[in-house]
Amino acid sequence: MSFIENILKTVVLDEATISEKVELSAAAYRIRLQGNSIRKINFIPGSFLKMGIGIGKAELSMKDKIRSYSIWDINKEKGFLDLAIATHSNGIGSQWAKECQVGDTVYFKLKKGNFLADASADSYIIIGDLSALSHLYAINKNIGKNKQVASILYNQQKSELFPDINGKFPLDFYELPQNPSNEIIAKIKEIIPSLKGKTIAYIAGDSRVCIALNNFLRQELNWETKQIKTKPFWNPEKKGLE
Ligand SMILES: Cc1cc2nc3c(=O)[nH]c(=O)nc-3n(C[C@H](O)[C@H](O)[C@H](O)COP(=O)(O)OP(=O)(O)OC[C@H]3O[C@@H](n4cnc5c(N)ncnc54)[C@H](O)[C@@H]3O)c2cc1C
Repeated sequence: MSFIENILKTVVLDEATISEKVELSAAAYRIRLQGNSIRKINFIPGSFLKMGIGIGKAELSMKDKIRSYSIWDINKEKGFLDLAIATHSNGIGSQWAKECQVGDTVYFKLKKGNFLADASADSYIIIGDLSALSHLYAINKNIGKNKQVASILYNQQKSELFPDINGKFPLDFYELPQNPSNEIIAKIKEIIPSLKGKTIAYIAGDSRVCIALNNFLRQELNWETKQIKTKPFWNPEKKGLE
């Protein structure tokens, strides 16, 4: 292990242990991290972890040592949190999710970011793919009660989308091809007239979809920038965003 990796592990990053691993669908795992560090986390819904999953693997480049995963749910009192990791990418993150085992130690840093739950609107439209589903569940649970919520959660196989941590299905699932910006725009046009009061859009996952929908909402529907929250989780030409 390099000097920098050692510093990362011992000084910079927090430590936890994998206490549960469950296959959520053919393309996603739930991974529960347990540890004292989790009791002290200052959790804001929409936060994520930068995880040093490649630390100690000499064959990986520095860029391939870290991947970001959203906090799906947390129980600070009991000192655990849950992540949901999609495996379509087949990169080091996907490989790690498939191979990690209960009892493994993980190193992470909490990141707040800016894709957080904002309860200031009356209605919401929530859009994303399998990789963003757990993050969007966390947002959906923290935008306040009695809000109007429309949603488009999509994947090439609908069966790979999984329920929220409580076993419920609060968001609408669609079977769509990769990069389905045109299909989503057609659905948005149907949904928008029914949304009441101040509306916020949350869009996460495939960067191509984030860009296309942001452009559509701003340029064609004249939405204000502050009404549109986007977070690219992955880009077909890049590895490991953030
Ligand atoms: C703030 C933030 C939070 C995130 N939270 C989550 C989360 O909760 N769960 C989660 O699964 N991911 C999440 N991601 C994405 C995650 O960090 C990794 O990018 C993802 O797991 C791919 O990593 P990898 O090492 O497997 O593939 P990489 O080495 O990064 O990429 C390999 C190839 O796969 C492609 N690819 C990447 N993701 C996908 C995909 N979903 N479908 C198809 N092709 C893909 C890439 O474009 C690249 O060509 C988040 C990203 C960010 C920025």
